[in-house]
Amino acid sequence: MQATIKKSFSIEGIGVHTGTKAKVTILPAEPDSGIKFRFAETCKRNGINIPDMSATVENVKGTLHGTTLSNGKQEVKTCEHLLSALYGLGVDNAIIEIKGTEIPALDGSSLPITKLIEVSPQNSKSKAIELKECVFVKSNDASIFIAPSEEFKITFIIDYPYPGINTQYKCFPITPEIYREQIAGARTYAFTEWIDELQEKGLIRGGSLKNSVVIGPDGPLNPLRYEDEQVRHKILDLIGDLSLLGTRLNGWVFAVKAGHTLNIELVRRIKCSLE
Ligand SMILES: [Zn+2]
Repeated sequence: MQATIKKSFSIEGIGVHTGTKAKVTILPAEPDSGIKFRFAETCKRNGINIPDMSATVENVKGTLHGTTLSNGKQEVKTCEHLLSALYGLGVDNAIIEIKGTEIPALDGSSLPITKLIEVSPQNSKSKAIELKECVFVKSNDASIFIAPSEEFKITFIIDYPYPGINTQYKCFPITPEIYREQIAGARTYAFTEWIDELQEKGLIRGGSLKNSVVIGPDGPLNPLRYEDEQVRHKILDLIGDLSLLGTRLNGWVFAVKAGHTLNIELVRRIKCSLE
């Protein structure tokens, strides 16, 4: 069965990259409508009717330290944690009304959003992608492989040369219960040696220890929620990017050191493999 949300709710705060404020309201939507962004403020301010934008891979505009969607007129930055929460909890249909340009970072995880989502089943059959073949993508030492499976599962490996991080491995079947308990709380992270470069690129203007785990040469600067919080966050991000398939997925995903660019490449290749 498809699902939407029972009650509308809003989140507000600054985006991790732009440092600008946004208000986002998530509303229930009809069966088969999918996840769509609605640009409330721009419509009102300029009197221009900007159509809703589907949260699908065709609208991906950027993947640099976050996934940016755009319809050519309006863009939404860093949408992956919100989309991950909806997909992880099995919400097929919702409208995301945004006033601003970047989804609020909140605490750097999707936990505050999952606490607000009440899933409401709809009387319509759900659809899931059944893979015809395995799909493999790679870039340098990062790779992702997806094999047909009766359930949606993710195995992820990361490997950093830092104390307290090193190699982390996790494998989860992605169910709403596991998403809430094992994945949603994992926060985004940055290494202190990345910070100058990210700031030069105009990124992480809203980043702080309140919304990110910062990892220095001796390990994390803030207390961790899980011993292997970073690999769990990578799974959270991958779920958000896979949601851009626009439908549920049956498949077992094996990812090694993958990030948004490769995640999106995988989504595009899965779509091609179905044609
Ligand atoms: Zn993330």
